[in-house]
Amino acid sequence: MAIIRAIRGMKDILPPETSRWQWVETKARETFERYGYREVRLPVLEKTELFARSIGSDTDIVAKEMYTFTDRRGDSLTLRPEATAQVVRACLENGLMKAPGVKKLYLMGPMFRYERPQKGRYRQFHQINCEALGSDAPELDAEVILMLVDLLGQLGIKDLRLLINSLGCPECTVDFKAQLKLFLAAQEGWCDDCRRRLDTNPLRVLDCKSQHCQSLLVGSPTMEDSLCEDCSRHYKRVQFLLDGVGVAYEKKPHLVRGLDYYTRTAFEVTAAGLGAQDSVAGGGRYNGLVKDLGGPDIPGIGFGIGEERIIELLQSDYNKESQLKVFLAAIGNRAQEEAFSILQDLRKAGISAVMDFENKSLKSQLKIADKLEAKVAIILGDQELEKRVVGIRPLRDFVLIQEGGKYNLVEIKEKQFVGQVFQQEEIGLESLIDHLSITYFKT
Ligand SMILES: [Zn+2]
Ligand SMILES: [Zn+2]
Repeated sequence: MAIIRAIRGMKDILPPETSRWQWVETKARETFERYGYREVRLPVLEKTELFARSIGSDTDIVAKEMYTFTDRRGDSLTLRPEATAQVVRACLENGLMKAPGVKKLYLMGPMFRYERPQKGRYRQFHQINCEALGSDAPELDAEVILMLVDLLGQLGIKDLRLLINSLGCPECTVDFKAQLKLFLAAQEGWCDDCRRRLDTNPLRVLDCKSQHCQSLLVGSPTMEDSLCEDCSRHYKRVQFLLDGVGVAYEKKPHLVRGLDYYTRTAFEVTAAGLGAQDSVAGGGRYNGLVKDLGGPDIPGIGFGIGEERIIELLQSDYNKESQLKVFLAAIGNRAQEEAFSILQDLRKAGISAVMDFENKSLKSQLKIADKLEAKVAIILGDQELEKRVVGIRPLRDFVLIQEGGKYNLVEIKEKQFVGQVFQQEEIGLESLIDHLSITYFKT
């Protein structure tokens, strides 16, 4: 019978790669908590209406990329394509907006978009999101950007470029859209998507991926020139604050972000080494979104980090090692019986340990131990059991040498040891855990 395969565009994440994911997520949690953010965990399914209303119906996401289906009751549901709308939804529904001060939340998890699968792009992808609701202060914009840059720095991502822009408010966009429409209408040769957007959503032409459209945009009016006084002051203040803490950025007048709800500050971080899809994170302010979703007029700002991209950029030797310390090789029925409780004692002492229950030969068991990247094998056969001892055999990192009639462990990476190397030492069962803790693992 043929095996069943995963859905196209969906990827299994397996060890040892998963340890990188854990590492990235731990760093993100630590960083966000230092800035006062708390985690939310939200369902992956929402009512379709939530995204249609917030993201905008002329965006690629809503028009052609959502996983939407009708459930058994006939309701239209969608697998979340992004996080901001649902964080706002959850805050409104659970009364979080009523709490005083800025609501600072983060969320990690899978998002779903029906895009053409290509290298590094999946239909189920993962994001790390932060959202801050309840203030329009430019200080918050600067802080959010700083936090993002802080995290990416801690992850060791190199050659970062921070791009910023202001998308203005509904008042100043009216003017800008009118100017832009005139400019766009005066040119020929836009792609099919852009021709449609000329009327419905001219801003989206600015971030068209077609090289040709981008070349036609040279000399187009910029949002910055159309900003109203308030928006202009806000944008300048954000830049002033970033300058003050020495964060390098570039102004990118065509940065509009793919979603309709953004206002004022928009930003994106790109990294070298990813090819054309070089964006690792992006975000911006969304002052009208809470109101659009039926809530009070509360401003917000946030960002999303593409986790797959981050993982791809990590240095290849990051945290790949298995954490397994002990493989307990028991040979024979009695030894297997005894090993089962030793195994549990090891784990209680904080030493990760596994054994194989199939009662295979020592050779086969050591093969498994090697495959699992265990640091040492503990060997227990009938002979050892008789003497109440076990054999300890270093598998990785250490060798055993004998000095003055006593066994010593030397880390292989030191490469300074002299003397005879032994395969295995013997130790009384009673002192096994203490010996492992002190000599081998220094727990
Ligand atoms: Zn404005
Ligand atoms: Zn175009």
